[in-house]
This record gives sequence, structure tokens and C-alpha cells, in this order.
Amino acid sequence: MAEHVIGIDLGGTETKIGIVQEDGKIIEKRMIPTKVFEGRIAVVTRIGDAIEELLHESGMNSSDVIGIGVGSPGSIDHETGTVLFSPNLPDWSGFGLAAMLEKITGIKTFIENDANSFILGEWAFGEFKGSQHMLGLTLGTGVGGGVITHGMLMTGSMGYGGELGHTIVEPGGPLCGCGSHGCLESLASATAIVNMAREFSKRFPESLIFASPEITAKVVFDSARAGDLAATIVVERATRALATAISNYIHVFNPEHIIIGGGISKAGDLLIDSIQKKMPEYVMPSFNGTFSITLSKLVENAGIKGAASIVFYRIS
Ligand SMILES: [Zn+2]
Repeated sequence: MAEHVIGIDLGGTETKIGIVQEDGKIIEKRMIPTKVFEGRIAVVTRIGDAIEELLHESGMNSSDVIGIGVGSPGSIDHETGTVLFSPNLPDWSGFGLAAMLEKITGIKTFIENDANSFILGEWAFGEFKGSQHMLGLTLGTGVGGGVITHGMLMTGSMGYGGELGHTIVEPGGPLCGCGSHGCLESLASATAIVNMAREFSKRFPESLIFASPEITAKVVFDSARAGDLAATIVVERATRALATAISNYIHVFNPEHIIIGGGISKAGDLLIDSIQKKMPEYVMPSFNGTFSITLSKLVENAGIKGAASIVFYRIS
């Protein structure tokens, strides 16, 4: 029988839970509201109940799964299974999430930061699965990063490593949520793109961006694709920041594959083409042709699959 794990994509608003087969196939899944305001015990208890129901509906019990993987935003101590700090989960600092889930379910539990679980999901189930040298960037509200080098997730001495989103690409640039200025996150996250677009409201009031009832990163990319000048300037600045950061990662890690996921990856070809066009100028000639930059193909259920892959990675 194929091995099964449970993947939990823990989010500030909703939590997705699925039973995942070792080939990445999702047997059963569900989404529940996280309801952070009810407190962490209530949240974890609800997750435990959902796991029990999922197992029951699949005709399985806890001994049929080899582990639970949780992808969580924030800083995670994956050795102890503790949430150290998570902006979306206030009051969870120092919470032994893995221990409590294990107690409720009787199933061994592993936790990783959600950006690390994204790249582990690519390593286990993605287009380039099994590659020993991969790097992942998730472009959403923030910019997450994860690095696999020699087949191992790079964590650094304290486990905080791989924060690719806080590489400084424009010294003195926009203020980042981390307190620094000009981080990749402050120029290429959805939030940053919307902020940069808003700054053009006086200079380019006729821009397509402002014809839309709501300014989102998608509106900015769609407007740029339609030839809008303000949108093109924003996209150019964001993708220059991405190309700068990626060229630095290439020189440090020499990855085979750079995979981009998260909400903004829906911008698709325009995003990738714009980054790729800049690379020959940004990387040393010896690195040309040694790497690929692509969008994640695990768009649907990527969170559940990424979380599930934590178990396969820790147990393999
Ligand atoms: Zn930062």
C-alpha cells in the first residue's frame, strides 16, 4: 500500500488539510476557518477533529498515515515543532504546535515555515522533483524563500536561514515589514506592487490601474500587459528587484532550478519573461545556461502538498 501523510496548510484565515499519497495525489481534503481569535487550543482542537473526520471518510485510521506535516507562516523551530513567531498567529509565540497535534491525533508531526514547505513540495512533487539544488520564492503578501542544496533544506545555524525575501536589493528603498529598507519583499510582494502603483495616482491619473475599482497586483500586471506606462514602470521596478535578488542567489547557491510560486505567479509569462530578459546582464557568463527560472506548476493544492512533503523529507 502506498504511504500516506496528512498535509496541513495553516493560514491566518483558513486552514487546508489533506490526506496525500507519496506520489502527491490528494485522497481527501477539506478547508476549515482558522478562527485565530478563538485561541490556539481551540484552533488545534478543530484541526484534530477535521483530521479524524478525513481519516474516517477515507476508511483509514491514524496508524495508516506515517506523519503530519504543517506548513505555517512565521519563524518555526522545526526541531522542537514550536512556532517561534508568526505575524498572522498572534499569541502563538513559543507554542509547541507539533507536540499538541501529536497528543490529539497520536500521529508524529513535523512543522516548517510555509516558504520552506513550498520548496520541499517542489522537491517531492514538482516539475523538477528530486533535483538536489533548487530555490523557491513565494510572491504573495510577503516574499518567502526556501533553498535546497545537495538535497538538503538549508536552515542555517538557528533554523532561520533561507529568508530570501529580505535580501536588500535597493539600499535606502521602501520600508519593509521587517524594519529594513529596500528588501526584495518591499519591492516585489503583492503589497509592495500595489503600494508602488498607488504612488502614481497623481502623476498618471489616467492610468488603467486607476480605472479598476480595486488595485491589486493582478490589475497592475494586466495593465502593463495592455501597454499602460505607469503599470510598466511598476512591473519593471519589481522584476528588476527580482532579477537582482535571483542573480545573487545564483552566484551563492548555483541552483539548477529557481521556482516562483504564490499569488503573483499568476502574472505568468510577463513576470518570468521580464526577469529572464535581465539575467544575462546580471549573472557571470560562466553561470549562463546553468539554471532555469519557472513558475510552479503545483498551483492547486500547493499548500497541502508542500506541507505533506515535510513528512516525506524528514522521514526519508
Ligand atoms: Zn525585509
